[in-house]
Order: sequence, then C-alpha cells, then structure tokens
Amino acid sequence: MSTTERPRILVVGGGYVGLYAARRILKKMRYGEATVTVVDPRSYMTYQPFLPEAAAGSISPRHVVVPLRRVLPKAEILTGRVTTIDQDRKVATVAPLVGEAYELPFDYLVIALGAVSRTFPIPGLAEQGIGMKGVEEAIGLRNHVLEQLDKADSTTDEDVRRKALTFVFVGGGFAGAETIGEVEDMARDAAKYYTNVKREDMRFLLVDVADKILPEVGPKLGAYGKEHLESRGVEVYLKTGMDSCVDGHVVLNNGLEVDADTLVWTAGVKPNPVLARYGLPLGPRGHVDTSEKLQVQGTDYIWAAGDNAQVPDMAARKAGVENAWCPPNAQHALRQAKVLGDNVISGMRGFPQGDYEHANKGAVAGLGLHKGVAMIVMGKMKIKVKGRLAWYMHRGYHGLAVPTWNRKIRVVADWTLAMFLKREVVSLGAMETPREEFYEAAKPAPRPAAAKSEAGKPDAGSKADAEKAKA
Ligand SMILES: Cc1cc2nc3c(=O)[nH]c(=O)nc-3n(C[C@H](O)[C@H](O)[C@H](O)COP(=O)(O)OP(=O)(O)OC[C@H]3O[C@@H](n4cnc5c(N)ncnc54)[C@H](O)[C@@H]3O)c2cc1C
Repeated sequence: MSTTERPRILVVGGGYVGLYAARRILKKMRYGEATVTVVDPRSYMTYQPFLPEAAAGSISPRHVVVPLRRVLPKAEILTGRVTTIDQDRKVATVAPLVGEAYELPFDYLVIALGAVSRTFPIPGLAEQGIGMKGVEEAIGLRNHVLEQLDKADSTTDEDVRRKALTFVFVGGGFAGAETIGEVEDMARDAAKYYTNVKREDMRFLLVDVADKILPEVGPKLGAYGKEHLESRGVEVYLKTGMDSCVDGHVVLNNGLEVDADTLVWTAGVKPNPVLARYGLPLGPRGHVDTSEKLQVQGTDYIWAAGDNAQVPDMAARKAGVENAWCPPNAQHALRQAKVLGDNVISGMRGFPQGDYEHANKGAVAGLGLHKGVAMIVMGKMKIKVKGRLAWYMHRGYHGLAVPTWNRKIRVVADWTLAMFLKREVVSLGAMETPREEFYEAAKPAPRPAAAKSEAGKPDAGSKADAEKAKA
C-alpha cells in the first residue's frame, strides 16, 4: 500500500463499476493528481453475462475474467475486503486475504460492491444450492453436472441414477433462464458419449414464483423463451416456490416433490449486505441511496453506482414514471461507471458534476447454442427478435462489450474453435480438491492393527517399527 501525500481515491469493489470507474478516473486524471486504490477480494473483474456460457463450456472460464492489475496498471490494487468505513476519520478497514486487517486513509470514496444472491431461509438451501454470480460457481456447476452424468452412467442403483439426472433451477430471470438453456444444451451434447445416459433420462426443472420467465425482454419474448425451453424438454413451473430441499429432496409448493443432486439458485440478487456496516444512507432494500449525480446522499466525497446503489432513473422519470430506479444490470453499471468517474474528477477539482441519465436500450439473452431472444428499444419502438438471429445479436453484443481487446479476441477464438471442434465434456471435479490424491500417496501408512499384549501395551514389533521410523 502506497503512503503518498497525494489524495487517495478509494474504489471499493473491482467489478463492472469499480473497473470502469477506475479506468475513467485514471484516464482523466492529471499526472500525480491522486492515487487510485482498488480493493476487491478477487484479483479480477468477472464479466457475469458470460457465466452461463462458461458453465456450459462454450467459453473458457479464464476468458470471462479480466485481471485488474493488467487492466489498471497505474492503480494500486489491494486484494482483500473493505469491512468498515469510518466517515469522520475518512479511513477504511481492509481485511487482506491473509494477515491482520489494517486501516487505509482516503479522500474520495467510490462504493461499487455489487450484489449477492438473494436467498430465503429455505431448509436445505444453504447446503444444496449453487449460485451463478462468480466464475468459481460456473466452473463448479459445469464439473458437477458432468460428474452427475458419470455417476448415472456407472451406477446400478436406480434411485442414485434418477437423483443424479435431475437438475432443478430456481429463478427464471436472465441468469436462471440462460444458465438452464446453456447447461441443458451441454448435457444433451455430453449424453452422446455415454452408454447408459440419454437426454430422455434427464429431468430439467425451472421454477419461478413469477408468472413469466425472462421479464427483462418483455412478456411476449418471455413466453417464447418458456415455450422454447419446454420444446427442449425443460419442465417450467411458474407461480411456484420451493419449500425445502433438505438432502436434495426438493419440495415445491405446487405439490411436486423430486430428488435432485443439482440445485441451481438464481432467484435474484440483493445489494451486498456489508453495506450495512459502512454507515451510509440506505434505501428500503439495502441499496446505497444516491442522487442523479451518483453522489451518496448527504456527502460530497462519496459516490456509488451499479447493483449496490439506488440510482434514480431520470429517463423513466422524465417519461412520467414516478420513483423509478435504475435496474441492476450491466447496461446501467457500465454507463454509470463512466459518469461516476467524470464526477469524481469534477468533485475533486471543485467543478460542477453531471447527471446520470440513460434510457433502456433493450436486452439480449442466449438460451444455448443458436437459440436466444432479443428486445431492442428504438425510441418508442420495441423490436423483438428470437431464435438464431437473436443468438447472433447476443453474441455480437457481449463479444463487443466484454472489457479489453485481449478478452474480446479470446472469447471470439473460443466461439470459433467451438464451431469446428466438438464441445469439451470432461468433468474436472477433482480440481476442487487438487491435493487429495497426493495426500493419499504421501500420508503415513496406517499402522497394522496393533496386536496388543495382554497388558494392553503395543507389542514388541510395533515398538521396533517406531524406533526405525525415528532413526
Ligand atoms: C449470470 C448473470 C448474467 C447476467 N447477464 C446480464 C446481461 O446479459 N445483461 C446485463 O445487462 N446484465 C447482466 N447481468 C448483471 C450484471 O452482470 C450486473 O448488473 C453487473 O455486474 C453489476 O456491476 P457491479 O459493479 O455493480 O457489481 P459486480 O460486477 O458484481 O462487482 C462487485 C465487486 O465487488 C467486490 N466485492 C464484494 N464485496 C467486497 C468487499 N467487502 N470489499 C471489496 N470488494 C468487494 C466483488 O468481488 C466484485 O468484484 C448478469 C448477472 C449475472 C449474475
């Protein structure tokens, strides 16, 4: 950590907002004007819209993350968590990956902590569920699903097999619908290589309490998305919640009960709960309350944006929608980050700051290879596209939107290779416990069942072994 006399701009969170805001600040800043410090527990930014494709193996997981130190060479990157903020002393507490927490003084603060999975106290959820917010989860899900196919292919126990081949996804928004679309596609492809597993043996269930899926693309395309998934054999249960999933026994509130080894939880997000410890003004759902200048209400040196902020949606408000707030998506996060970066520079120099205003441009969603939906907003017109063309639009949009040319090229290379080579269907579940096999080989051999003397003492042989071992 540098201890210069320059003012420090502390960016808490190196995701979408953190990365783009820091980049903008560094670009606009005069040489030596300030130190930009970014703190994040991960050393990379995750391009979350690609997580479903990473889970399906269409994109290498390494290509959906952007190393912060490489993209922000002029910033100071600290790998850790900001646990508290002392506004009076202008000091943040940083808990690094290892070692003692320390205090970090700052002059200007950017809050960009994003969101976490929104969960409910459902019995079994914490133990069984897997989220879709990070690349680790995408890798884990892919390995897990392929492992279930391996398991089902090799067992003679019908109950084990049925449970392994049942996949439940809760939440039918962007993340859930895209993930089930991609994973079903991958499992269908993978089944070709298994003797005892066919796609018909698998059960995919998509459950949502709402009356539609993919609300981001509107009711018509949402209905199309549902019909499309159903045509691929996915069972979609709307207006349905999950009551429990203890030990993989999933109980839905429509009376359906299934045993499933896979439970993917994508039922929305909530602002990062650590915000409650920062002492900042929060909205009713826990977001940091900001003005249209992205400045935290009641402060003149703190800004916030993205999924952790409650930002007034000025475009919607001007169109007559009262109390409209920007939805938590990448479209807003990216644009807010740029305005925020400019405002930090203006704030630091004592200049007037700009307002954030952006009208929704639409949304694109991929539902597996060559399948998708897209809604493009042009003024008052909403153009709806589905099928292969929408899928190309999805790839085109995200291929251009992923940060850095390095990642754009790598992602396009992954897609191009996938056109000529078959999808990789190997499960590397053991990656999660890489030391296990070595440990088994290296651990001390178990001593033979000690033949005890009548007095209960180890026999002479084992004493001799112990002496040898000491020598
Ligand atoms: C599966 C999925 C698919 C999506 N698809 C789309 C899509 O197609 N289109 C779209 O517009 N949007 C999409 N989104 C939403 C979009 O990715 C988010 O809106 C966007 O990432 C929000 O950016 P952010 O900077 O607010 O948060 P994030 O990008 O999540 O960044 C938050 C950062 O804060 C860090 N952090 C957390 N706690 C701390 C701490 N205590 N101290 C320091 N740092 C911390 C995190 O590690 C993370 O790097 C998708 C999201 C998901 C999960």
